[in-house]
Amino acid sequence: MREAISALPYAPAVKVVCNSRAASGRKTTTSMAAYPTPIRLFARSATRIPDSTSKARRAARAYLFGGANAYEFTAMAPEDRVKVALEQGAQVHPQYRDAFETGFSVAWARAPFTLGCAADWTEEKRAQHYDNLCAIDGRIALAGEHASYIPAWQEGAILSALDCVQRLHARAAAP
Ligand SMILES: Cc1cc2nc3c(=O)[nH]c(=O)nc-3n(C[C@H](O)[C@H](O)[C@H](O)COP(=O)(O)OP(=O)(O)OC[C@H]3O[C@@H](n4cnc5c(N)ncnc54)[C@H](O)[C@@H]3O)c2cc1C
Repeated sequence: MREAISALPYAPAVKVVCNSRAASGRKTTTSMAAYPTPIRLFARSATRIPDSTSKARRAARAYLFGGANAYEFTAMAPEDRVKVALEQGAQVHPQYRDAFETGFSVAWARAPFTLGCAADWTEEKRAQHYDNLCAIDGRIALAGEHASYIPAWQEGAILSALDCVQRLHARAAAP
């Protein structure tokens, strides 16, 4: 199990959330395909969130999942992540910059308990390590998205928990 844990990398992910003073409802007709992926993600994922005065606010999110983009953002200082995300989003929605109020970010590769967002299995790694990772080893049994065939999803975590409990039960009930 120890070898399997060591062999399994975790994918990085960075989320940047920017809150705006007012809803910037102007719609763009720009073709998103013309922009690089991080810009498209940022510009597209605007979500309305209510504030305490019940006036609608708008949060524009950059969600950079995996690969070089996430590593690049992870390496930045938190305030720089917001700045760069705004600059990129403003290329598609120029009003982003004027409406900007506050922003924050999370870089999962810096989360001390996981050092990443989710298990990054490859076919080869699964063939070599998956069964060992999921096997009960002494007093330890793992459950979670990483011990499933649906990593990075709640469904994977739940299925893994059910599987783990069944295996524990089978062991405890064994004659
Ligand atoms: C940004 C982001 C967006 C996501 N979006 C979606 C989505 O839209 N839909 C979806 O289905 N899934 C989504 N997921 C994935 C989903 O959240 C995870 O797959 C799921 O939460 C994993 O559950 P888990 O039980 O394996 O691990 P976790 O939920 O991470 O639970 C592990 C727990 O163990 C605790 N822990 C860690 N170390 C210790 C320790 N030493 N002692 C005690 N406790 C400890 C942690 O605090 C944590 O509470 C997203 C994940 C992220 C990061």
